[in-house]
Amino acid sequence: MTVRAKARRAPPGRVAYVDGRYLLHGMASVHIEDRGLQFADSVYEVFFVSDGKLMDEAPHLDRLERSLDAIGMKLPMTRKALGLIMQEVVRRNRLTTGFLYLQMTRGVAPRDHAATDAMRPLLILTAKPVNSQAIETRRAAGVAVVTTDDIRWGRCDIKTTALLPNVLAKTEARKRGAYEAWFVDRDGMVTEGSSTNAWIVDGNGVAITRSISDNILPGVTRRVALDAATAAGVKIEERAFSRDEAYGAREAFLTSATGGVMPVIRIDGKSIGDGEPGPVATRLQALYRALSAANAAP
Ligand code: PMP
Repeated sequence: MTVRAKARRAPPGRVAYVDGRYLLHGMASVHIEDRGLQFADSVYEVFFVSDGKLMDEAPHLDRLERSLDAIGMKLPMTRKALGLIMQEVVRRNRLTTGFLYLQMTRGVAPRDHAATDAMRPLLILTAKPVNSQAIETRRAAGVAVVTTDDIRWGRCDIKTTALLPNVLAKTEARKRGAYEAWFVDRDGMVTEGSSTNAWIVDGNGVAITRSISDNILPGVTRRVALDAATAAGVKIEERAFSRDEAYGAREAFLTSATGGVMPVIRIDGKSIGDGEPGPVATRLQALYRALSAANAAP
């Protein structure tokens, strides 16, 4: 599709922010020697926007700063200034429910693998409305996942745009009629989903998710859901679980900013529990939404 055709199809007035400028989404672009394009030398965040407010803004910005620090970059402005620009993008897009996507690349430079401190970071923000009813319909039905080998690098805790293994895994999932792929490490233990954290519930009603390490992304939704669960007295355990344990679990679910707590009803074609979204997942979704709404800036 041509750029012009894409611009025509975009919702009227959709606006992107690129390096200090607000542009029509269909007209926004970056230089061919941007290091994000050339080397995936960039990090990103995705914020859920509800009622025009950024959900879990502070922990997402904390993680952004951690990712930047891990690759030797810094925010090119104060956090407060960044917050104002993000709000402006939400406002200019008249976004009530949807996603705000933020990407920060190391900037434009003649192609050379080595990064230098002289490079000037490039900030991109885009906004996308979502049909929240479609998400709720999916939540009510539950989703299927398939498992696949975890072929990623050793720093999955950095939220980099180097997502080729995740892209291949999600594509495989879709081809196999599933919504998400769960990565399984060499020991047969589930790490996480291609764009979600993975959870199961055991026969005693304990919600289990892998503990934080450099093998998984420290999901913000995972963290807020854990905090909400602890406060409500839901039993939780942070530890690795195997693919076989997942097959035999009473419940399974995913967490992410884009889907909240999403029940899993099938793994590799096998029904989980009674094959319906389970009570722990449903309760955790309510607890998560309540806590993240309470944390949202007024
Ligand atoms: N794991 C991976 C690999 C992801 O890409 C994401 C989504 N960014 C998550 C987990 C979930 O993280 P969050 O709850 O912060 O969206």
